[in-house]
Amino acid sequence: MKKILTLTLFGILAVVLIGYGIASAVKKDKPTVADGSVADYSNSASDYLSQSFSESLSATAAQVIADITGQSRDETAKGSAGRIDDYEYAYAGFTPAYANVSISDWKMLLVNRDYILPEDYEVKLAPSITSDPDSMQLDYRVAPHYNEMYLAALEDGIELTPVSGYRSLTRQRNNFERKIEKYIDEGYSRAEATRLAAKIILPPGTSEHNAGLAMDICSLYESFENSAEFKWLSENAADYGFILRYPKDKQDITKIIYEPWHWRYVGVEAAKAMKASGECFEEYLGVA
Ligand code: ZN
Repeated sequence: MKKILTLTLFGILAVVLIGYGIASAVKKDKPTVADGSVADYSNSASDYLSQSFSESLSATAAQVIADITGQSRDETAKGSAGRIDDYEYAYAGFTPAYANVSISDWKMLLVNRDYILPEDYEVKLAPSITSDPDSMQLDYRVAPHYNEMYLAALEDGIELTPVSGYRSLTRQRNNFERKIEKYIDEGYSRAEATRLAAKIILPPGTSEHNAGLAMDICSLYESFENSAEFKWLSENAADYGFILRYPKDKQDITKIIYEPWHWRYVGVEAAKAMKASGECFEEYLGVA
């Protein structure tokens, strides 16, 4: 009797796992764009199932096991534990750890004051607006989504002009240093000036722009929050996988000023979840 019960339970678990795998393959995993091409969405469900059913099923099983053992997305998002004591701005108290650039879901890469990109991090770039090769560049896996959002907004009479996308470490360092010098000119010590500057411009390697994952859109002024473009983004950006990365009411967590212009790509599923919960990215990842 006990054996039959065990076998029955095992059978039910297997059916649930396979069923969940099929559902994930059709719905959840389908938006994954391996080569950054939005056209991949047009694959029929049956094509997709035959191509990656087993892959998807094992991923689902891994997720189930991770859930059972109490692991969550935050542990994969966290970078290395070791602080970089010789980071060039350590004198001002900045000793970040390395970001987890080998994270299985690249869209969840956490880059902030605590998690820095390695110096040799390579970004493969593409123009954010397909019809304009000179437009600001983004990670090639993000650019098609920006283009899609840009075109959708245009249809509503809104132009989401890309102002700043990918920035090299050198460019980030120059911007940061200029800000430090400005505060030094105002009479602050170098350490104080560096801490003040970091609230406005992130130190090199700690900005999402250095990874090509975010775009500053239309403006670099807080007044942007009163614009039709910001209203459109607030209502629609999540449908294209973008989030307002540094919200007004989360500055104690993000440790950076409110930036209504800075939109980060995280994928549709995560963007919609954060929009619904009101969590910022650090909270969503469980590292706040
Ligand atoms: Zn920005």
